[in-house]
Amino acid sequence: MPSNARTAMVLLKIFRISFLYALTAVRHIEHFRLSVSRPLWTVDSCYNWRHNKSCQAIFGMVRVNPRQSGANPRADATESNFGAERQMIDIKDLHASYGQLSALKGIDLTVQAGEITFVVGPNGAGKSTLLKCIAGLLKPRAGSVTFKGKSILGEQPERLCRNGLALVPEGRHIFATLTVEENLRLAAMHRKDSAEVRADIEKAIETFPILGKRFKGAAGYLSGGEQQQLAIARAILLKPTLMMIDEPSLGLAPLVVDQVYDSLKKLNETGLTLLVVEQSTARVLDLADRVAVLRNGKVVLNQSGDQLGDGEALETAYFGYKVDHAALVTD
Ligand code: ATP
Repeated sequence: MPSNARTAMVLLKIFRISFLYALTAVRHIEHFRLSVSRPLWTVDSCYNWRHNKSCQAIFGMVRVNPRQSGANPRADATESNFGAERQMIDIKDLHASYGQLSALKGIDLTVQAGEITFVVGPNGAGKSTLLKCIAGLLKPRAGSVTFKGKSILGEQPERLCRNGLALVPEGRHIFATLTVEENLRLAAMHRKDSAEVRADIEKAIETFPILGKRFKGAAGYLSGGEQQQLAIARAILLKPTLMMIDEPSLGLAPLVVDQVYDSLKKLNETGLTLLVVEQSTARVLDLADRVAVLRNGKVVLNQSGDQLGDGEALETAYFGYKVDHAALVTD
């Protein structure tokens, strides 16, 4: 090989190695810069989890690139687009499917600001599918969904999350190997207001005192009810204007369900709008400002709390026939 070509190859190699070193250095400097302002585990978690689908599903913002930890004009622009509207969610003629299976067949529903709206229905009615469509996790086939007056169809879950729409998923999905504190901090990792984050963690602990007692313990050791409280507390850290909760009573003892619902009521009293999905109608008469009954992907009843009365219409809509209570009494 002529000496000129050899020299060129050596130079090319040196250039390549220098370039790779420079890239690595930039990444480490950025990593260090972030670790000064945030706990290291947060940064590591962010690097490791940002491509993890289930993380995006729960937090949305886990996909936030830490390199963009400064002002994000796109997100800020979106935030300013959401005005204060009385109507928090407005759903019109929503259709959604999984392949050939039609799960939602023309849903109409509104959620008013400051209210507790329940969506109840039996297994497979389409309740979770409805929440997934609102949270941006499932693309509807047709229809419209607006959040504070703006269409959110096609929006990424993490952007909706950052704009105040939090989902507490069915089954909680807490991070079992992380501590309670880490679970809470993870939810707030996209926020830059560290003083307010601390205040919100205190507020979450005030609402769920057990989390304060287990603050440094692994979340996996919490009981089912405590994990449900952690999942809701984590959603508080997202600073939501609307919190959607999928079956908060699932698998919990009645006493624990009472505690969870007491906390939800307190959160609602602070002005937080709630959209609660449940299989059971047990809490509806006490708490609902509005209830929609879903069966086979359709809304079969939509009533305000005042219209519910003794709940007979609710029961009939839920089961699809009028229940004869006298015939149910046995000795
Ligand atoms: P449950 O109370 O049991 O959670 P649900 O009312 O939340 O039920 P969905 O989970 O929304 O009901 O399901 C609605 C329909 O869509 C059901 O028939 C279900 O089998 C189907 N379904 C849900 N998720 C999927 C999926 N990922 N792939 C295929 N079908 C699905």
